[in-house]
Amino acid sequence: MSAMNHIASNTNVCFRLRTNQSNYIKFKKYTAAGLGFSGGTSQLGRCAICQEGQEVKLSAVTDRVVRHELCHALGLLHEQAREDRDNFVDILTNNIKPGFENQFAQAIFTSTDIGTYDFSSIMHYYSTAFGKIVNGVTLQTIRRKSNAADVNFGNNNVLSAGDRFGINSMYPFEQVCANITPLAPGELGIGQSKTVTVSANKTFNLTGIYMRSGQRFQYSTTSPAWNNGNKTTDCNGYAGSILDATRRHGDITVMALTGEIFLQNNSDNYTGTYFKIGCSRTLTGTRTGFLVCFANDIFVAYGDNSGSVSLTVTRTL
Ligand SMILES: [Zn+2]
Repeated sequence: MSAMNHIASNTNVCFRLRTNQSNYIKFKKYTAAGLGFSGGTSQLGRCAICQEGQEVKLSAVTDRVVRHELCHALGLLHEQAREDRDNFVDILTNNIKPGFENQFAQAIFTSTDIGTYDFSSIMHYYSTAFGKIVNGVTLQTIRRKSNAADVNFGNNNVLSAGDRFGINSMYPFEQVCANITPLAPGELGIGQSKTVTVSANKTFNLTGIYMRSGQRFQYSTTSPAWNNGNKTTDCNGYAGSILDATRRHGDITVMALTGEIFLQNNSDNYTGTYFKIGCSRTLTGTRTGFLVCFANDIFVAYGDNSGSVSLTVTRTL
């Protein structure tokens, strides 16, 4: 997330947590032995045929590695793969570890050089990348033409000006986005839902759904348990408005319950900031907390203090 936020804050690109998008990136951690080296791999750009997300494989989780791999996923190749690279570097082919020669291939017909050759690019290999190890020394594989003694390149762990220019050339429209933050325990991603059981004979049910200010939720149920009330109510927002003798509000399949986040301190030593749903409540959205279903609020309004309902909470924003 730190790597995504670094790229997002320096380019036009935004990263968002996936909900139900068909094309997306997923991160998979490997051992160096499992991946074959210490570092990472990524698809180049969007992988149209990846069925269940395209993997960014990581055997090292450093700023440089993760940012570098994300840049591959955005469409950047290695700097030394440029068409004009032979004007700037020599590839010391004999020093490359056997099997890794293709890491130094140029992409002449399949990609476009953007900007000028950039030794400070986060996409530039370091001078001994994939070098043979001889007597404990890793041999140099990339030599700078203008200054053979300079082996101090390919170590950048932030996007260079050239990297930013390259990414923005591919993604020319600025997207304004907030930093990605990890989901808290119990927090739903957008589009995700959780189904909880709310019992009428409890003052509240702690559902364990964490809610933040600004997020929006929809509540639905297929339980026809709120149908035997005999009490007039001013409960706002119920969707089952068909009244009949046996099913006061019909089978309620979608509720439009509203709620508010408030500070609660009750007799069960249950203190903190919670989101409460029930009748005649409005979502103020100014606080953060856990969803607490105050079942009595719901059931008493319908004259039933014995049943329970299955409540599905879906985060919509
Ligand atoms: Zn790479």
